[in-house]
This record gives sequence, C-alpha cells and structure tokens, in this order.
Amino acid sequence: MKYPAMQFTVDNEGAMEHLGGELAKSIGQSGLIVYLSGELGAGKTTFVRGFLRALGVLHTVKSPTYTLVEPYELDQTTVYHFDLYRLNSSLELEAIGVRDYFYEQAICLVEWPQKGAPLLPLPDLMLDITIKQNARFVEMKANNNRGNDALQILGRSATTHHQ
Ligand code: ADP
Ligand code: MG
Repeated sequence: MKYPAMQFTVDNEGAMEHLGGELAKSIGQSGLIVYLSGELGAGKTTFVRGFLRALGVLHTVKSPTYTLVEPYELDQTTVYHFDLYRLNSSLELEAIGVRDYFYEQAICLVEWPQKGAPLLPLPDLMLDITIKQNARFVEMKANNNRGNDALQILGRSATTHHQ
C-alpha cells in the first residue's frame, strides 16, 4: 500500500523546530519510529529539538553522536534520539541492545539510519531533508497506517505545508 508524501519548505532554523513540534503534537504520546535523512547540517537535530521541546523537554538537546542514543522520559512514553553517524559496525548496535528500544509505545527518532541497517526495524515515517541555501526542503513519507495517521494530522495543522 502506498501513502501520499508530504513536502515542506522550511525557511529557517526556528521554522524547522516548529515543524518538529507539529509532528510531535500530531502523534501525542503514542509510539512512532522516524528515520531522518539528509547531509550533515541539514537540520535533523534541529527538527528533533523542536519535537522534544513541544513535548515539554526543557534541557539541552544535542545529537548523541558518541553515545549513539539519548533517552528523554516523558509521562506516558520515552523518546529515544539516535545518531548513528559515527557508527562503525553493527556490533556496536548489538552492544547497546538496539532492539530493546523499538517497543510499541516508544518514540524513536533516528539520524543516519542507513548506518544501522539491517539491525533497525523499518520506520513508520521517513524524513528526507535537502539543503537549499538557507532554506530546507523536507519530504515526509509514511510506510504504514501509523505513520500515515501522524502525517495526515500534521498536514491539517502545519502552515508551511505544500502539496
Ligand atoms: P544535522 O543534525 O542534520 O547535522 P543540525 O540540525 O545539527 O543538522 O544543524 C543544522 C544547521 O543548519 C544549524 O546550524 C542551523 O542553524 C542551520 N540552518 C540554517 N537554515 C536552516 C533551516 N532552514 N532549517 C534548519 N536548520 C537551518
Ligand atoms: Mg545531527
């Protein structure tokens, strides 16, 4: 089954945080696996920061490049922010027990997911960010109903949305 993709043009860092926040609000505190693709500096971590802020996370959000994953505990669930940029071998993912993070209610946001293949489960939602000078082009694609539900709610609320 194929779901419609959604595209966004994001003019600055604040707008990227806003978009991350909109996605967070569209899934509430139910589980979701999101892959974030795009080159270094594309805005993946910025998106995640906005996502976490919208869920009430107040402390600093930095990419967990060396630790691979940073958990953020919320009332109903936990957000796990992965950054696999420095991953050299899937053995390192085995060592942190990667499968244990991807339970039904977990929200997993994964930067550089291609470095974790084939140990990572498939995502509900895939984000691809392309740099266009100061702006960013964000494409979101759902893989299943859970991802598509979030995307549809996001599409209704996000103001920067283009189809
Ligand atoms: P990544 O995690 O993809 O490597 P970051 O989110 O850490 O990227 O960094 C993105 C950088 O790009 C930040 O320095 C941010 O200020 C800058 N930037 C400029 N324009 C934008 C934009 N439209 N959206 C997001 N970030 C932007
Ligand atoms: Mg990053």
